[in-house]
Amino acid sequence: MGFPGVRMRRLRRTPWLRETLRETRVSPRRLFLPVFLDPTIPTPAPISSLPGHSRYPPSALPEIARRAEKAELGGLLLFGRPREKTREGEGAWDPEGAVPQALRMLVGKHSLTLVADVCLCAYTLSGHCGIGEGARIDNDATLRALASTAVAYAKAGADWVAPSAMADGQVGALRRALDGEGLEDTAILAYALKSASAFYEPFREAEDSAPQTGDRKHYQMDYSNRREGLREMELDAAEGADVLMVKPGLTQLDLLARAREEFHHPLAVYNVSGEYAMVKAAVQKGWITEDRIVPEILTAFRRAGADLIVTYHALEAAESGWLG
Ligand SMILES: [Zn+2]
Repeated sequence: MGFPGVRMRRLRRTPWLRETLRETRVSPRRLFLPVFLDPTIPTPAPISSLPGHSRYPPSALPEIARRAEKAELGGLLLFGRPREKTREGEGAWDPEGAVPQALRMLVGKHSLTLVADVCLCAYTLSGHCGIGEGARIDNDATLRALASTAVAYAKAGADWVAPSAMADGQVGALRRALDGEGLEDTAILAYALKSASAFYEPFREAEDSAPQTGDRKHYQMDYSNRREGLREMELDAAEGADVLMVKPGLTQLDLLARAREEFHHPLAVYNVSGEYAMVKAAVQKGWITEDRIVPEILTAFRRAGADLIVTYHALEAAESGWLG
């Protein structure tokens, strides 16, 4: 039967009925907040392209965790940077680095899942996600560095490590290294499908991690490719990833939805810095309404299949009650 017997408006008549029939919800627990740690500053330094976010000294993390816990977020995704960048990025796996230092302050003191991003781009002089110069990033040497980094973070108390360098074999290398150290309970959140994207630009200001020469297209994926994205996810799944992530999010909802059909793993999506910055800029201009647009964006990720959403909106959305 169709119209006029069927009238879809009947079930949209009241707010309480719409609430009853809502198919997709976003709870704060689904949200993970990215946090930038900088050991060279004594007080938080605002990031101009990410309004509301700052780089924090590691000692500020307990206070951020306290707020995140109160807002009932799922967890934090930690990014660090070194006191000094080097050719090979040794600062990434320094046990006294910003991320391990901050992690040790939190262990056992909260109900959040602590995730440590594992990459070298904030630590290398080249600004690339691996060891080497320009287009000659040494994949296999990079794997050893990433594995050492993951072990340092897991030992300091990271619940999950999140390799984001797009090195071939990185998930397997981390799994073997963690297990070799008796860290078999540390999970791996794999940046499985990470496309080279103009949407990362505000992040590079936050992390001072822009490549000094060339770009990242020789290791990050071409955003034009769908089948290649699924292969990336298959490989990370086979290497032992516990959670698979799609990044960036808004421009790849089709890939997220397809991944939901193909995999039984929990799926994560990264609502990246450029996506956040565009919303904030339009809000500042008075062109859009933040408490309406943010829930719509976060719901789109859930509806497409994401179990958890890494987003710069996390704390504000949860604390302001925008999620309903
Ligand atoms: Zn990187």
